[in-house]
Amino acid sequence: MSEHPVSTTVAPAPPGLPACALVDLDAIRDNVAALNARAGDAEVMAVVKADAYGHGLVPSALAALRGGATWLGVAQLPEALALRAAGVQAPVLSWLHVPGQDFAPALEQGIDLGISTAWALDQVLAAATTTGRTARVHLKVDTGLGRNGAWDADLELLLANLAAAQAAGSVEVVGLFSHFAYADAPQHPTVKAQQERFEGILEQAARAGIRPQVRHLANSAATLTNPSAHYDLVRPGVSVYGLSPVPDLGAPEDFGLREAMRLVARLSSVKDAPAGQGVSYGHVYTTPQATKLGLVPMGYSDGVPRHATNVGPVQVGRQRYAVAGRVCMDQFVLDLGPDTTAQPGDEVVLFGVGAAGEPTAQDWAAAIDTINYEIVTRVGARVPRIHLGGEQ
Ligand SMILES: *Cc1c(COP(=O)(O)O)cnc(C)c1O
Repeated sequence: MSEHPVSTTVAPAPPGLPACALVDLDAIRDNVAALNARAGDAEVMAVVKADAYGHGLVPSALAALRGGATWLGVAQLPEALALRAAGVQAPVLSWLHVPGQDFAPALEQGIDLGISTAWALDQVLAAATTTGRTARVHLKVDTGLGRNGAWDADLELLLANLAAAQAAGSVEVVGLFSHFAYADAPQHPTVKAQQERFEGILEQAARAGIRPQVRHLANSAATLTNPSAHYDLVRPGVSVYGLSPVPDLGAPEDFGLREAMRLVARLSSVKDAPAGQGVSYGHVYTTPQATKLGLVPMGYSDGVPRHATNVGPVQVGRQRYAVAGRVCMDQFVLDLGPDTTAQPGDEVVLFGVGAAGEPTAQDWAAAIDTINYEIVTRVGARVPRIHLGGEQ
């Protein structure tokens, strides 16, 4: 026990690792608690797809459950099965499938399935027959996103087929859900239009004899900005990890969130370089003066975007730098300046909570014209995730 408890988000990375992602499980727990408070009477499905947005599937899911999530959401069935294999008992919804996938394990493991196509319902019904289980499904409807989900004649047919299957006892229609196109712009006219369409489809479903227990529409942005879209369940993803889904409207702390991931590397070398030296492939950076170059053992294979060439922000000690020259597969370079005291082995912080002046994932997103989601999710498999806090 240390006398002065150190926030896990600023705990140093273990020495001897080229790079690692420190994941603060208490932040994930607290973020979910904050989202739960925002969600009012609605329950929280923490979305943990894509390895929990890069944070590590199982530890993140367990932290989210500790924070009060009662559901977990994933895109792909193998992700749901991995949660069950780790002993997670909570309801899990998986919503993106391809023909030929084996749905029997999903039914055996009690995984809820999002259904948006006739073929998926057919194959799930076949799995219900072979396993002797009732499939738990959530009808996914397209209310205007123009992506996954049924609409028009396909929806009409699915409703009829679901009603028949429900009467036969082979499915239980647990939920009905949809997804926004512009949740991050709450005033956009499509938000209200999609919500009205959603209500219309709920009435259409009721006329077909389908009355789902859980209606759900809200992602992070709608959870935080649009209480009228909460219904019975909200599906926050990026905010679970402490990132703002609406950076133009508020920083994480404005929503009671804090970033869970701190991405750090260690300087591999620090060497003298003359003025006018081209740096890294293509020499797209040239030293303006005699200086010291720091080598960082992280590259695009680790998720550092090649677009971060000359712009990606990092912190060494208390000093901020931009990537100098091309980001390569395994490494990039920093121009540390002639007076640096940085040494090989020193921490290079790519992003964290920002409390000690370090960049945030949002700063990286802004620097390379993408969204914070991509910055954390793309962190490569080679980078170990080190989970801090939580009940280990
Ligand atoms: C990814 C996803 C979410 C979570 O979205 P965030 O913007 O990260 O909160 C919710 N629902 C569906 C259907 C998704 O695909």
